[in-house]
Amino acid sequence: MPTYKAPVEDVLFLLNDVFHLERYNNLPGFADATPDVVQAILAEGAKLCEEVIAPLNRVGDQEGCRRAEDGSVRTPSGFKDAYRAYCEGGWMGISAPAEYGGQGLPTTLNTIMQEFVSSANLAFGMYPGLTQGAIAALYVHGSEEQKRTFLPKMIEGAWTGTMNLTEPHCGTDLGLLKTKAVPNGDGSYAITGTKIFISAGEHDLSENIIHLVLARIEGAPAGTKGISLFVVPKFLLDGEGRPGARNAVSCGALEHKMGIHGNATCVMNYDGAKGWLVGEANRGLNAMFVMMNEARLAVGVQGLAQGEVAYQNAVAYAKERLQGRSLTGPKSPDKPADPIIVHPDVRRTLLSIRAFTEAARALVLWTALRSDVAHRSEDEKERQAAEDHMGLLTPVVKGVLTDLGFDSAVKAQQMLGGHGYIEEWGMSQFVRDARITQIYEGANGIQAMDLVGRKLAKDGGRAVMAFFNEVGAFCQESGADEAMKPYVAPVSQALGHLQQATMWFMNNAMARPDNAGAGAYDYMHLFGLVAMGYMWARMAKAALARKANGGDAAMMDAKLITGRFFMERLLPETAAHLARISAGADAVMSLPAEAF
Ligand SMILES: Cc1cc2nc3c(=O)[nH]c(=O)nc-3n(C[C@H](O)[C@H](O)[C@H](O)COP(=O)(O)OP(=O)(O)OC[C@H]3O[C@@H](n4cnc5c(N)ncnc54)[C@H](O)[C@@H]3O)c2cc1C
Repeated sequence: MPTYKAPVEDVLFLLNDVFHLERYNNLPGFADATPDVVQAILAEGAKLCEEVIAPLNRVGDQEGCRRAEDGSVRTPSGFKDAYRAYCEGGWMGISAPAEYGGQGLPTTLNTIMQEFVSSANLAFGMYPGLTQGAIAALYVHGSEEQKRTFLPKMIEGAWTGTMNLTEPHCGTDLGLLKTKAVPNGDGSYAITGTKIFISAGEHDLSENIIHLVLARIEGAPAGTKGISLFVVPKFLLDGEGRPGARNAVSCGALEHKMGIHGNATCVMNYDGAKGWLVGEANRGLNAMFVMMNEARLAVGVQGLAQGEVAYQNAVAYAKERLQGRSLTGPKSPDKPADPIIVHPDVRRTLLSIRAFTEAARALVLWTALRSDVAHRSEDEKERQAAEDHMGLLTPVVKGVLTDLGFDSAVKAQQMLGGHGYIEEWGMSQFVRDARITQIYEGANGIQAMDLVGRKLAKDGGRAVMAFFNEVGAFCQESGADEAMKPYVAPVSQALGHLQQATMWFMNNAMARPDNAGAGAYDYMHLFGLVAMGYMWARMAKAALARKANGGDAAMMDAKLITGRFFMERLLPETAAHLARISAGADAVMSLPAEAF
């Protein structure tokens, strides 16, 4: 039976030593997040995840969700109680606006909790995760009345949320969307159509489900410019705002999936369901992007989370499994063999995962803090810089962290040999569950295209230039420090590769867009490596400082060694990415489709 321990110490190191949370105290909500409060919150969150949510991971995988004849859906045993505990702990609204009943604490704290929950039980975490995304979209684009009607109940967790984009014939290309909305004449619309793959579309955890649905108002233009966003409650509200009559929306079927069995993935039928427009007509994609961007970051966190929990279980096994002898002589001479953790290849594998997860966590927290600045700062310039950062980093966090998260789950599974392939050890579930993160919320190939096709050139390249400047300045500042050289020199070189790749696109992709398309995936990973390399350099600097102050030598040494491993073993891949990008699209595009 796999286990999970939330990485609270690592998070505290990042918040206190690397990112200096106290420097954000000018932002609303941060002054309340004193070091003691943060520590207490994380300890409480860790306890819930380790003791209540994680033990249900396997139950959820084995039982799955069940749909009854009447279209109702039952979640796996224990999910209801765990969800109640999550809501009673105030986790749904930890960062939600206080005016609607939230606690108004930094988004960063919610992001940390998202990692813990997703490691403990990815399928379970999607119920609150989607609700939080829907809260964000309604908060930004909903009318005052919609906010007053829906937000308090959603923030309390009594009502959950969903995101309805995908239809049988369209996922990536939402311009093809067919679900239609016809005005009822009373300010509401009748929504008709079929949505597929809707996570948490129907379940028994909450009193009501608030669907956010993309649809085309009758007569609206074709393509993405004619899409509007609607709020469609499962139960229509009575005069007192309580769930009353059933709306004409129902779950037609549950999908049978490779993983995340504990999450209900539904075909949703809208048969003239009553819905209300959110934001402006025909600007629905724009409104939905609030939810999609939140969700993309959250999915990146899911990738990291699966890598982390898989790593923890692989390490536990590697310390106990006795096979073979160390190449340098027995390490456990009293035993019939040494534990496999003595073998260089086992260590290489484990360190590859750890060097990724620790950098990924830093990247996630760095971005979450920027999200707090973007939403809470009163300084317009600061806000804009933070928004630039988020726009640029969102596809990187989503694409790279989920690819490497899945890769990490596979690597961790490998550490258990044949037992990794046997269900009862739980490693196979991590692999199966992690796989979806690369696909949903925009498949990773689409994230790469978003980065290269939209984000790089946006506002004359302002965001990417700011990123280059920040990493470059850090390298320059820290380069003279002898102890930092093993970290700074590789990051400088990798940054050079990223800049060359960016220049290559500027010179070669305008005239031939296929050059951008063919290099985009490599570029996304090259970007991710540089960003994670920068995170490692910052962590190394913080670790050296804490060590010099006499703090926690063992943990800091582990940081420094893992960081060196990243620099020597993972970061050099930037050269290969650059070579592939600058090879251009010729070989990729030359083969005629019929020759495949
Ligand atoms: C378990 C699960 C849960 C989900 N939850 C939700 C949910 O809650 N709400 C919701 O609305 N949807 C949800 N989805 C849908 C999911 O977001 C889509 O499946 C995903 O966005 C891809 O769309 P598609 O399946 O139609 O693939 P397609 O769009 O058909 O893409 C197929 C492949 O072609 C590639 N491709 C397509 N167009 C391009 C292009 N222009 N350039 C390069 N490559 C391209 C893609 O990268 C992909 O690899 C879920 C899906 C699953 C499986």
